Amino acid sequence: MPKPAYISEILSGRYSNEEVFIRGWLHNKRSSGGIHFLIVRDGTGVIQCTMKKDKVDSSVFEEAKKLTLESTLELMGVVREDKRAPGGYEVHVSDLRVINRAKDGFPIAKKYHGPDFLLDNRHLWIRSQKMQRILRIRAEFLKAAREWLDENGFTEFHAPTLITAACEGGATLFSVRYFDKTAYLTQSWQLYAEAAIASLGKIYTIAPSFRAEKSKTRRHLTEFWHLEVEVPWCDLEGIMKIEEELLFHVIRRLCEKPSTIRDLEALGRSPSDLLKAEPPFPRITYDEAVEILNRDGIKFEWGNDLGWIEEKHLTLKFDKPFFVTHYPRRAKAFYHKPDPNRPEVTLSADLLAPEGYGEITGGGQRIDDENELLERIKENNLNPNDYEWYIDLRRWGSVPHAGFGLGVERTIMWICKLSHIRDAIAFPRLLNRVYP
Ligand code: ATP
Ligand code: MG
Repeated sequence: MPKPAYISEILSGRYSNEEVFIRGWLHNKRSSGGIHFLIVRDGTGVIQCTMKKDKVDSSVFEEAKKLTLESTLELMGVVREDKRAPGGYEVHVSDLRVINRAKDGFPIAKKYHGPDFLLDNRHLWIRSQKMQRILRIRAEFLKAAREWLDENGFTEFHAPTLITAACEGGATLFSVRYFDKTAYLTQSWQLYAEAAIASLGKIYTIAPSFRAEKSKTRRHLTEFWHLEVEVPWCDLEGIMKIEEELLFHVIRRLCEKPSTIRDLEALGRSPSDLLKAEPPFPRITYDEAVEILNRDGIKFEWGNDLGWIEEKHLTLKFDKPFFVTHYPRRAKAFYHKPDPNRPEVTLSADLLAPEGYGEITGGGQRIDDENELLERIKENNLNPNDYEWYIDLRRWGSVPHAGFGLGVERTIMWICKLSHIRDAIAFPRLLNRVYP
């Protein structure tokens, strides 16, 4: 019995001229005369397997001829280097066993399908090369982010998903029946993170956040993955440094692994564009952003949050991510710390990705004083009773602290050069979609 081998190992040249045994799905197939070209996928890669009529039993050759797409197979054969084969290697098949013969007419055909059809068939579409590449890059992204955070002394911490009080404003809360009470799905770990820094110091989480986003945009999901960081004894400048170093570490990792480089390039993203994101990232203030917009003829009122149109315009002026700092207090959630030198703005920063992508992180310094917090809670028409435990944190060992939240799909969207956020996640949750 030959060695079981993964396709990625074969494509790396490890089994040249050896006999191997591979298992996978029939991704594609064509025949010409006495040869079948079986394109097989196993989750690690895709390889061409050629079956010549005179090299296998005639029953095997006949079975391969009738084989349906997405059937599962076990194949045996010898690995040969071949410049003409995609990936540079192919398997010369000596035997084939069909494990599960797929039904005829796999719904995803080699033709144009509209986005709704692909979303309805998402459970099958995630097998496509495009989705495989994105999902692999996403996994590499999170692995590299964890690596940097762990190496720099951050502890992973988990906050609850079922909560009772809003942190990003009530309009986008999903409510759930919690026995005889109402609870909500979390929008961010924010309030709990501020409790946990007094226990663990520097912390991070990678977890889903939920927001009932009622408008259709290309960059909002109702369930997204949130990479959040919170740091005691840290100010606005300190947290921006952490963000840029973390992001650049991840980009460097993605751009040094040959298989990830191949995935990026196949998606139309050149690694050299990403590698421009070397720290320090440019910083402009919100005021400067408004000035640029007004100068360029885009009507925008000071005090509002920057929307997609404004962000898009600003991002076209940069070729790497950049920070917009000091947002007005009315544009930011209640826990953002007002600037002591200019209380109408906050010590906040959003990180915007270039090329029209816009906001990928939001963060800044948090309020550490009890009275200031109470003032901001009232100003936002929130009920202090709902936040009693959170206010408590300012009574028992308060420290200056800062943090940020990075939208994983927003960042993957930019890294993979996607035109819609739905493709940055396997099963997107959108205004009109929770199935499959
Ligand atoms: P936006 O103004 O784009 O709605 P936000 O200001 O509401 O974003 P934050 O509350 O600062 O966003 O959340 C932190 C990060 O989480 C954002 O920078 C973004 O990357 C991501 N994010 C926020 N809402 C969504 C969403 N609905 N879908 C996907 N990612 C999101
Ligand atoms: Mg929002």
